[in-house]
Amino acid sequence: MIPLSVPNLKGNELKYVTKALEAEWVSTGGAYINQFEKDLAEYICAPAAVAVASGTAGLHLALLEAGVTAGDYVIAPTLTFIAAVNPIKYVGAAPLFMDCDDSLCLDVAKVEKFVATECVFANNVLTFRDKPIKAIMVVHVFGNLANMMALMAIARKYNLKVIEDATEALGTYAIVDGHKKFAGTIGDFGVFSFNGNKIITTGGGGMVVALDADKLKHIKYLSTQAKDDELNYIHNEIGYNYRMTNVQAAIGVGQLEQLEKFVAIKKNNYELYKELLKSVTEVELINFRTDIRPNYWFYSVQFAEGIDIGKFIQSLLHKGIGSRPIWGLIHKQAPYQSDYAFEIERADKYVTSIINIPCSSNLKSEEIQNVVTAIKEILANG
Ligand SMILES: *Cc1c(COP(=O)(O)O)cnc(C)c1O
Repeated sequence: MIPLSVPNLKGNELKYVTKALEAEWVSTGGAYINQFEKDLAEYICAPAAVAVASGTAGLHLALLEAGVTAGDYVIAPTLTFIAAVNPIKYVGAAPLFMDCDDSLCLDVAKVEKFVATECVFANNVLTFRDKPIKAIMVVHVFGNLANMMALMAIARKYNLKVIEDATEALGTYAIVDGHKKFAGTIGDFGVFSFNGNKIITTGGGGMVVALDADKLKHIKYLSTQAKDDELNYIHNEIGYNYRMTNVQAAIGVGQLEQLEKFVAIKKNNYELYKELLKSVTEVELINFRTDIRPNYWFYSVQFAEGIDIGKFIQSLLHKGIGSRPIWGLIHKQAPYQSDYAFEIERADKYVTSIINIPCSSNLKSEEIQNVVTAIKEILANG
């Protein structure tokens, strides 16, 4: 069996977890939490980072800190994992669903069109049907980078906060004025996830960064039950139990040490797929943007019209190869059917024509050959 994506834990993870256990620091305090935060912040060239229980928890805290509250709107993509959108509902706001561009990320040109044709901007507040739009949730899909420069220009023009869901894009960066600008550090808030299939994992966990140091501090406060006085249990706000544990952080420190190696392996594997699939006219490996350094997390292949990707996934499974369709569009899911969606076109097309193929960082070149051979056989024989 060649799985779609599995973790790779052969560095110092076991050593560090053992140390955490031996020290009996297993909960939401301990040296590894501080170290993981410091190491990750350094890696992405951010001044600080806050470790949280999951990417979803991090997104929830970022929305709270962005000032999104009940009755507000947040611009969000329909083509993404639902965890990017559910926290909008946690705070009582509603998503305004947008289409994707050919990078599978938010179509920024369409966002601009939506704002220009459907919204009103007055007194520094952007409104849609008389309710304020407070923020844009942008997702860097599969390790690509959304068109952040254009998006930030729109956000600043219309006084919108930007939350980067960088859960899939740890390590992805653009070069801006000679400096690396990492996914997650361009918008007002950036959120990472270390779930089992992400490029590095802690089993479960996440990290939050913010442009404003005070806001990040407040996010940490909210993540630890809004404790104002440790000894006397004084709490002046509603807090959350959203902190990462020391054992998870120990795994994270070991994983982060290997991240650049994982990116290099994934890049090589991506290029091998690209080479081997070149001659197969019915499929195309989706490109990452050429003006960035992606983390090459997930590989997507697009099939020619008329090929049933559901059947194709089953056929691959029969040959022992894991694959999956990209997500069901969120504006079509039961809890979101009454929410607004603006001119969804590309996302509809991509959902029925793209699948993800095996991409683990421990994938061998023979296995990649086998995947491509299987794809060719299925195309030839049905
Ligand atoms: C994985 C993922 C999340 C959620 O992260 P968790 O740590 O699983 O809560 C959110 N958004 C996207 C796009 C993801 O891929």
